[in-house]
Amino acid sequence: MTASTPATLDVEDIHKSFGGLEVLKGISLTARDGDVISLIGSSGSGKSTFLRCINFLETPDRGTVRLSGEAVQVKSGRKGAAVTDERQLQRLRAKLGFVFQSFNLWPHMTILQNVIEAPMQVKGLSRAEATEMAESLLAKVGIAHKRHEYPSHMSGGQQQRAAIARALAMEPQVILFDEPTSALDPELVVEVLGVMRSLAEEGRTMLIVTHEMGFARDVSSQVVFLHQGRIEEQGAPEQIFKDPTSPRLRQFLASHL
Ligand code: ADP
Ligand code: MG
Repeated sequence: MTASTPATLDVEDIHKSFGGLEVLKGISLTARDGDVISLIGSSGSGKSTFLRCINFLETPDRGTVRLSGEAVQVKSGRKGAAVTDERQLQRLRAKLGFVFQSFNLWPHMTILQNVIEAPMQVKGLSRAEATEMAESLLAKVGIAHKRHEYPSHMSGGQQQRAAIARALAMEPQVILFDEPTSALDPELVVEVLGVMRSLAEEGRTMLIVTHEMGFARDVSSQVVFLHQGRIEEQGAPEQIFKDPTSPRLRQFLASHL
């Protein structure tokens, strides 16, 4: 997308410490409509914390998250950091999908129930409406035949595809993925990356923490390299992978490609 496309997601100056450990030291990032941004970096560099701060699974100590006009800001007071407006946060969250490394499906519900729950509870869809949508999403990710199974009866790849369908059911404007294939056996990685690739081709806006460098190179519009809580380098995939500037990025790529 070009710089003239309006920002869909605009994250500004996120700071986060845990105790004395400063994990995020001021991170800003803009995603435009249709952008696929891959976040790469060593373990412990702050990738998950950054993603979790965007939808306030962690409350940043400082910073602003804007999503199509909705801005959530953090105010720090004596009792610690808190968002300035709780209703704004709920509206922001409703527009953000999140896919976890560990799937996080509800184990006591079938796949279909997992997908229809939030659209019914949060969006007020009827069971029939939610089911119709869920069935088409489950077909889209290739597991319609598994809709009445419980998560524990499915492979990791199928569970992660169900988790993606569950995120899509909320019609998010941006989907955040935190290492969606890291918990999978190697032969199951490809089916999940295939689903993510097709979402990218549809023009969905996505932020993806990943160690799958080939995928990041092929699918991303932008790659962001985090190092010790800062953006060390960012750019188009061709530049990042073929002509990295930072010695730390070179070193990282040497051990991950
Ligand atoms: P990454 O996802 O890049 O591997 P994380 O964001 O998970 O990195 O972690 C960055 C740093 O923050 C690590 O040192 C980690 O131990 C620390 N950290 C993350 N979450 C917490 C937490 N809830 N409490 C304390 N420390 C944390
Ligand atoms: Mg992580």
